[in-house]
Amino acid sequence: MKITVDRSKCEGYGKCVEVAAKVFKLDEKFISVVMDPKGDADQKILFAARVCPTKAIILEEEESGKRIFPQA
Ligand code: SF4
Repeated sequence: MKITVDRSKCEGYGKCVEVAAKVFKLDEKFISVVMDPKGDADQKILFAARVCPTKAIILEEEESGKRIFPQA
């Protein structure tokens, strides 16, 4: 799964880090960055994207590039 954090949307709430601590971390500006896209199970990553209050986490299928979350 391809994980992108939209840095213009992330407001540093850290919800994604709470849910999937091996995938996301906050950088020095308190913006979420992806450390390891395979660090946690896909279900956990999907949950992290769902709980993000600003919908800053974009998930796409690795090969097809098809959008998984958020749905348009
Ligand atoms: S939950 Fe969303 S707003 Fe909060 S740190 Fe993660 S990406 Fe940023």
